[in-house]
Amino acid sequence: MTETLEIKITKTQHSRLQETDFSNLPFGRNFSDHMFSADYIDGEWTNFEILPYGEIGLSPAISALHYGQAFFEGLKAYKHDDGQVSVFRPDKNAIRFNKSAERLCMPALPEEIFIQSIAAVVDIDREWIPAKPHHAMYIRPFMFATDPYLGVAPSKTYKYMVLIGPTGPYFSKTLRVKIETKYTRAAEGGMGYAKSAGNYGGSMLPAKKATEEGFDQLIWTDAKNHEYIEEMGAANVMFVLDGKLITPSTRDTILDGVTRDTVITLAREWGMTVEERRVSVAEIIEGAKNGKLQDAFGAGTAATIAPVGSISHNGEEYFLSDPKTREFSQRVLTELDAIKYGRVADVHGWNYMVS
Ligand SMILES: *Cc1c(COP(=O)(O)O)cnc(C)c1O
Repeated sequence: MTETLEIKITKTQHSRLQETDFSNLPFGRNFSDHMFSADYIDGEWTNFEILPYGEIGLSPAISALHYGQAFFEGLKAYKHDDGQVSVFRPDKNAIRFNKSAERLCMPALPEEIFIQSIAAVVDIDREWIPAKPHHAMYIRPFMFATDPYLGVAPSKTYKYMVLIGPTGPYFSKTLRVKIETKYTRAAEGGMGYAKSAGNYGGSMLPAKKATEEGFDQLIWTDAKNHEYIEEMGAANVMFVLDGKLITPSTRDTILDGVTRDTVITLAREWGMTVEERRVSVAEIIEGAKNGKLQDAFGAGTAATIAPVGSISHNGEEYFLSDPKTREFSQRVLTELDAIKYGRVADVHGWNYMVS
């Protein structure tokens, strides 16, 4: 039995729901009326609170700002046709949350606090969940160090918060991607497997340069020789090569994605051969040349299934088939939607129902 969290609730006096444009919901721009907050003080989690979304006061000396003791999670809540609300696989995010915490020398958050805090704030703002295809409530739990101390040492106090906001699809078009051969996202022994804030700060310059060259995304390769494929932007990358689903195996340079795991599970159930292993740039380029590369897509909560239209490597661009004609990613996308929006039986127990 898990205890129910005692949460102090202060509701907003001025809902912004009516003034929010639900016909235009770019990722990450809109926040609902409320947010969740908790503090880690003297070795325990306390001050569980739901309060109106807004600014918070912090010392400018907090070590999160100076040394990057900060990380986050990303998941989504969906509105079913019958009005019920579910969060997709939050138990997986709870586990990963604590992996990130451990890597950054930050305190673990009990899974029941993680899940109940999310459920509570989603429940309060359930009117904010868009009931439109491919739309959802994006959920952003995060933790950061709050000691006002400039020594390079783990903080003793932390804040855990949850922001939520309605969102549409992250990418609306087929992606033109580039295999990155200069910059590195993560190295062995580093923190690529954690959703630590610093990983994303470091990816912005390479991403900006790629955008200036006309690309939508980068495919990250290994730090040593740039010979093996690791991820795509802030998503996992998956390929169908000669009828087999192929994706880089998780290691300490790769984020262990919930979407990745979900796609692999479905593919295996459909009788497909799945290979989680090192994936070389050479075999993907070879497959693109000889037509054996039947599908390529990014997989992530924000991106969902984001089809790759072309892959560039060392100045050569290789085009793939029209995404609408791709059997696997189309089937996955359809099945994932059916599960998340409650249109088929949730045989895996992936939907956490918010009552
Ligand atoms: C969040 C993220 C993913 C996708 O993980 P999901 O659990 O599927 O959302 C993949 N790679 C990176 C680097 C990420 O930050």
